[in-house]
Amino acid sequence: MLSFPAGTSIIKRVVMDKPPVASTRFGIDSVLASAHARHRDHDDGALADYIPELAAVEPDRFGIAIATVGGKLFEIGDTTQAFTIQSISKAFVYCLALELVGRDEVLARVGVEPSGDAFNAIVFDPHTNRPFNPMVNAGAITVAGMVHDVAGASAFDLILERLSLAAGRDLAMDEAVYRSEAATGHRNRGIGHLLRNVGALHGAVDDVVDLYFRQCSILVTAADIARMGATLAHIGQNPVTGRHVFDLAAVRNTLAVMFTCGMYDHSGNWAYDVGVPAKSGVGGGILGVVNRQLGIGTFSPRLDAKGNSVRGIAAFTEIADELGLHVFDCTNVGSSFVTPLLDP
Ligand code: GLN
Repeated sequence: MLSFPAGTSIIKRVVMDKPPVASTRFGIDSVLASAHARHRDHDDGALADYIPELAAVEPDRFGIAIATVGGKLFEIGDTTQAFTIQSISKAFVYCLALELVGRDEVLARVGVEPSGDAFNAIVFDPHTNRPFNPMVNAGAITVAGMVHDVAGASAFDLILERLSLAAGRDLAMDEAVYRSEAATGHRNRGIGHLLRNVGALHGAVDDVVDLYFRQCSILVTAADIARMGATLAHIGQNPVTGRHVFDLAAVRNTLAVMFTCGMYDHSGNWAYDVGVPAKSGVGGGILGVVNRQLGIGTFSPRLDAKGNSVRGIAAFTEIADELGLHVFDCTNVGSSFVTPLLDP
């Protein structure tokens, strides 16, 4: 038995010493428990009160869940507390739009370059006139427009159905949060009209922005987003139900854009420190995907100035390091590496 310096990650220990699977599985729970314990008393950040109803959520809630492509769930804390998905929905609706209208049409209307700007920035790519990417509001509203072009009045039902299939249970919308954003979301309406002006939106702006507000108000838990992430990690198939939810090529494109743009103007730092495709939402959730291995969901509603969950970033950073999840970690030696340890 080798001895390791304090703080050596579990996967590094596995690579160096190959401990029995049972102790590794115990290790996953203990990594989650220690990340939760270390960060649960941190109260930096603030609730997103620009949507008035979001200021009413309990600020101290904190949950972390990991779902594997083998169907297992590891969880700690408030993993069954419902919150609104907000911008995490953008990743899944982008995936759906790729399937519905095809890659060429999607790329013609929304780019895939990081903007380096805030999620609600009113800025388009000066060369193409397109929104920079589908993870910022301008791009996501355009993507909602594509789904609306195809599905019309049933567009929201289609989105809700797909997200439900990804989670493996029937999701629902929070009416109060939807109404709150619909009553106050004039900046997003303004973005919608500018998109109509540059030709990125074709239909009635109010209907498309309404669809976007609805998709943002879908209720999920940390366990749900972990499972939804596992569906993406499992190339579009829900690991528990076995249902094929998303097109394979669309999943690849979605994960790529999550990796480069999913944390807005924090995306570069995130890729550096955490190194997994991710998407945050102002409801306090963060979704992470370790390709072919697992989905990670965190929930803690206090946000930093860029709209990302403070405890969520801290927990992800610690968990990715401890489990060797960073895509460029020297111990992450292939896409099937962690899974057999979690799903023996
Ligand atoms: N519904 C929110 C908005 O458009 C979503 C933003 C977010 O989660 N970053 O402002």
